[in-house]
Amino acid sequence: MVHVKEYYVATSLEDAHQRLKENPKNALLGGGTWMKYTHRILNQLIDLSKLGLSAIEEDEKQITIGALTTLRDMEVHQSIKALGDGFLSQALGSIMGVNFRHIATIGGSIFSKFSFSDILTPLLTLNVSVKLYPDEIKPLEAFLEDKGDRTKILTHLIIEKQEGHGYFKKVAQVINDFCVVNVAIFKEKETKIAVGGRPQRAKLTTEAIKLIKDSKTFDEVLFTKVAQQGVQELRFGEDDRGSESYRKLLAETYIARGLKEVYSK
Ligand SMILES: Cc1cc2nc3c(=O)[nH]c(=O)nc-3n(C[C@H](O)[C@H](O)[C@H](O)COP(=O)(O)OP(=O)(O)OC[C@H]3O[C@@H](n4cnc5c(N)ncnc54)[C@H](O)[C@@H]3O)c2cc1C
Repeated sequence: MVHVKEYYVATSLEDAHQRLKENPKNALLGGGTWMKYTHRILNQLIDLSKLGLSAIEEDEKQITIGALTTLRDMEVHQSIKALGDGFLSQALGSIMGVNFRHIATIGGSIFSKFSFSDILTPLLTLNVSVKLYPDEIKPLEAFLEDKGDRTKILTHLIIEKQEGHGYFKKVAQVINDFCVVNVAIFKEKETKIAVGGRPQRAKLTTEAIKLIKDSKTFDEVLFTKVAQQGVQELRFGEDDRGSESYRKLLAETYIARGLKEVYSK
C-alpha cells in the first residue's frame, strides 16, 4: 500500500512539473490503480485532474487522447472502435473489469511502460506518438526505448487514423490475470506484428515482416514461416506465468492465426 504525506491538486502543467522536479518522492496521480498496488512512500501526490486532460479529440487524420482519459472511455469511443476492426478496443477491454477501467487512465498505463501491458502491444502496430511536457512529441516506439525521465508529464497520446485490419490476442491463465503473452497484428499497406508479456515489454518484429514484404503469395505456408521467424528474433523468458518454450509456442501459434485472419479480410 502506498503512503502519501501530502495530496496536491496542480493548477497548471508548469506547476505540476515544478513540483515533480522539486523532490524525487513527489509523483503524479493518474487513476491511482497501480499506485495503490505499490509499496511507495511519497512526499506529495500531484493530481492532474483540473488540467483538462481527459478529452478525446479528433480530426480527419488523428485521434488525440488526453492522459487522464480512462481506459473505458477509450475502449468505447467510436473512432477507437473503428481502428483495425476494433482490435485496440478489444485489448483495452481485456484489462480487469469495467469498474476498474473507469478509473485507470491511459497516461498512467503508457508512462509506466508495463512489460505485461495489453495496450502497448496493439499501439505499437499503429502510428502512435506521445506528447510529453515540457515540449516533446515522439513516436511511441522511441518513447519505450528511452531510459525514462520521471520529471516528464505525459499529456496526450496521438493515434493516426489508419484503415487497415487488426488482430489482438491475450493469453492469460484465468480471466483478469496478467497475460502469459499477447500478440497484436495490424495490416495496412504494410503489416506490423508486436508481441508483449514475453515477459519483457512489447516489441515489434523486424525480420519477420520482411518475409511478408518479399512475398507475393499470402497463404498458411508463409504465415507459419513469418510466425517462426517472429519468435526466433524476439527474446522470450520464464516467470511464474509460463516457461520460455510455452510462451514461444503461444506466440508462434497466434501470430500465424492472426495473419490468417487479417489477410482473409
Ligand atoms: C490488479 C491489477 C491488474 C492489472 N492487470 C492489467 C492487465 O491485465 N493488463 C494491463 O495492460 N494492465 C493491467 N494493469 C495495469 C493497469 O492498467 C494500471 O493500473 C494502469 O495502467 C495504471 O493506470 P492509473 O491511471 O491508475 O495509473 P496510476 O496508478 O495513477 O499511476 C501509475 C504510474 O504512472 C505515473 N503517471 C500517471 N499518470 C501520468 C502521466 N500523465 N504522466 C507521467 N506519469 C504518470 C504515476 O506517477 C505512477 O508512477 C493492472 C493493474 C492492477 C492494479
